[in-house]
Amino acid sequence: MVRVRFAPSPTGHLHVGGLRTALFNWYFARKTGGKFIIRIEDTDLERSKNEYEQAIIEELKWSGLDYDESIDCPGEYGPYRQSERLEIYKKYVEQLLNENKAYYCVYDKENIVYENNILEDKYKNNKNYSIVIKFKVEKNNILSFNDLIRGPIEFDTNYIEDFVIVRSNGIPVYNFTVVIDDYLMKISHIIRGEDHISNTPKQILLYKAFSFDIPEFAHLPLIVGEDRTPLSKRHGEVSITYFRREGYLPNALLNYLSLLGWNAEEQVFDYREKIRDFDLKNVSKNPAVFDYNKLLWINEAHLRNDAIDKVLKDFEAWIDYSKIDLKTSDKSYVKKVVEISRKKVQTLKQLYEFSKNFFRSDFEYEQEFIEKYASKEWFKDVINLAINKLSNVEVFDFKNIEVTLKEISNQNTTTKKNIFQAIRGAVLGRLVTPGLYESLETLGKEETLNRLNRALRLF
Ligand code: GLU
Repeated sequence: MVRVRFAPSPTGHLHVGGLRTALFNWYFARKTGGKFIIRIEDTDLERSKNEYEQAIIEELKWSGLDYDESIDCPGEYGPYRQSERLEIYKKYVEQLLNENKAYYCVYDKENIVYENNILEDKYKNNKNYSIVIKFKVEKNNILSFNDLIRGPIEFDTNYIEDFVIVRSNGIPVYNFTVVIDDYLMKISHIIRGEDHISNTPKQILLYKAFSFDIPEFAHLPLIVGEDRTPLSKRHGEVSITYFRREGYLPNALLNYLSLLGWNAEEQVFDYREKIRDFDLKNVSKNPAVFDYNKLLWINEAHLRNDAIDKVLKDFEAWIDYSKIDLKTSDKSYVKKVVEISRKKVQTLKQLYEFSKNFFRSDFEYEQEFIEKYASKEWFKDVINLAINKLSNVEVFDFKNIEVTLKEISNQNTTTKKNIFQAIRGAVLGRLVTPGLYESLETLGKEETLNRLNRALRLF
């Protein structure tokens, strides 16, 4: 049975690289009918924070990648938070000490004063000494494994020093806990970033020391910036929080992250439909360049073309997340606004900015509208005429509005363009809006007339 895991350390927010790793594990699990597990690796007590753990889980949920076992949906191999597994690790550390495969290393201020697999009493609980436990690396061995993406990889143990497995605070280190957990959680494939390749030989040494079966490894290519250095803050925002806040669609982000290392032919797709095609064999060895413009372009494509109900759900979720009150509980109204606005924007945030005046009648008018239209001597005549004609429209739909506005614009008070822009600005406060007929249809007759009257009062 395939079991894979994504094992974030809660020392910061979820990073695009982290979500890409989660996504590729997810693809593999879903393709093979296996399980996708989230394990929280919080043994770095100083840097791990509960708020990051919550944020990571929340952001994974937002992304839509469903998982099978984790801290909030335990399976039979938990706990899934490493800080709750310290007793388990202890047992395995003792086993290595007993078998003389690990030893205590005692330091006074700077120097090593003692090394043995049994700790003498005088060092115990003595503030003058710090004690770590090290794993003994047998020299003159060649370790090899077959990386499912990169092919065979070899390491010479002569280049690997004995390494710390338990820190002086008594907490075991990542390279140790990861092996125990992957073994006990029956992880079959370890799919993670290329930056972990250098940890793999140490982990393999531990698997061997315990006679555990060694899982398969697959190291995903690094994500780099345009300058080919590992993607970091220097290149721009990298946290999922940022992309969420800016109004990227989860589906668009996962679509784009799929392309980082996997050369799918299509560029815009529903990532759930790509499960069938996913194969670690097709993952590239070369670094993947993170291209913010391409991500934006993919976001725009999803925003415009995905099923309207999906986009509506994402928009409502973004509104909630941004703590915005749309002041309406009329879902079908919100849906109409999204439908007529989405073709003109690239993100949910822009969608909101673009359409927010649909949700409030007390909006401010753009300066340009006031200068070019509302302050003109013909303005009131045009608005009065619009009020007259539109109040006679019985069925206030696109077609009738179109006919009526065309009639109004044929009056010779001013140019057609001026008349349309004057009405547009009067009802929505701005000069760039969705199409005017559909805008009025969406607002409805009563609201359209209210807004025209308001403009008449104010200018
Ligand atoms: N906690 C490690 C990290 O966040 C996980 C590495 C691994 O997948 O083995 O990088």
